[in-house]
Amino acid sequence: MKQLFRETWIEVNLDAIKKNIRAFRRYIPKQTKIMAVVKANAYGHGSVGVARHALQYGATSLAVAIIEEGIVLRQAGITAPILVLGFTPLSRVKEALAWNIELSAFQVDWIKEAQKIVRASDFSGRLNIHVNMDTGMGRLGVRTKKNLLSVVKALEASPDLHWNGIFTHFSTADEADHTLTKLQHELFVNGLRYLEQHGFKLPTVHMCNTAAAIAYPDYSADMIRLGIGMYGLYPSAYIRSLNRIRLVPALSLKSRFSYVKTMLSEPYTISYGATYIAKKGEVIGTIPIGYADGYSRALSNRGFVLYKGKRMPIAGRVTMDQLMVSLGERKAKQGEEIVLYGKQEGGEITVDEIAEMLGTINYEVVATLSNRIPRLFLVKGEVVEITHLLPKG
Ligand SMILES: *Cc1c(COP(=O)(O)O)cnc(C)c1O
Repeated sequence: MKQLFRETWIEVNLDAIKKNIRAFRRYIPKQTKIMAVVKANAYGHGSVGVARHALQYGATSLAVAIIEEGIVLRQAGITAPILVLGFTPLSRVKEALAWNIELSAFQVDWIKEAQKIVRASDFSGRLNIHVNMDTGMGRLGVRTKKNLLSVVKALEASPDLHWNGIFTHFSTADEADHTLTKLQHELFVNGLRYLEQHGFKLPTVHMCNTAAAIAYPDYSADMIRLGIGMYGLYPSAYIRSLNRIRLVPALSLKSRFSYVKTMLSEPYTISYGATYIAKKGEVIGTIPIGYADGYSRALSNRGFVLYKGKRMPIAGRVTMDQLMVSLGERKAKQGEEIVLYGKQEGGEITVDEIAEMLGTINYEVVATLSNRIPRLFLVKGEVVEITHLLPKG
């Protein structure tokens, strides 16, 4: 295959994604469906490629954060149900209808206005709505039983809207202390019972993200919303320590030396601020990745890359598009492959370790990888699909 992309790339191991989905499939109850969460470009893995394959591997629907992300999937020909988890302004309701994308809602006024918009539009079909209940996340959602009832009544009275789901989201399901999750679950179940007492038949009920799906299999309900676990990362060290499910990371970040030099003369300074001074005879490799690609500048003089399976320290500051590493006395060559996240010849740099170094979580490390980096999707080590900045050709 002719290489049409830059020499920094992400490899997404689809066999790992398949294994992870299958692992959850075996772990959760038979009747529980899997919604693959592919927001934020599938946590940096590439949304269209991941979505398409996740559906092949057993997910039955998709979730995104904003409507644009759903439209991107529809434009790629994906026909499975897609739910927008975040708030959608009324100005976007027509698009949701046109693209058959399901929305979350929790306000009576919003529902009444959406009904008018759908009624006035030329599109046939109803707008599918999932009601969001806030049981302790404090982000979006209806907060009291009374309001929940009004929202559902408004929805059921809307001829052009269809009540398709009801959900809540846990804020501490990845922690060892179960107190708040149990309270959230109780509030949610009470809300559901209250609706049933008022004669409503419940649509699809869902509450679990990855952490809750692992720690509270009893809460699986009709569907889980599987994000980070599908990508082979654990939501927290606590969830990993439960040892209930074995996940395989799907993403590797790789590059090639764009230049290698031996420092033989003054000046020995490396990168902005001249914070690194090389020794005479030290070999310095330049790598074409920087903070604009999502490789954090906070890794300056701290991070590592793998070369021939060994860790080489970053020398000086990470710049917008490039960084340098010290190779000691190793005579590396321009064009040789290096690994920033993932495995190489017995060595490994995990996304979890990078997150730890940066004082953040693995979610942020992968979700911030920019679309400037091409994504190569692999099955059994063979590239089956590539997405990159330029249109095909
Ligand atoms: C992002 C998100 C998820 C997925 O969470 P993971 O921890 O990645 O599994 C599920 N539900 C909602 C509402 C979300 O915003």
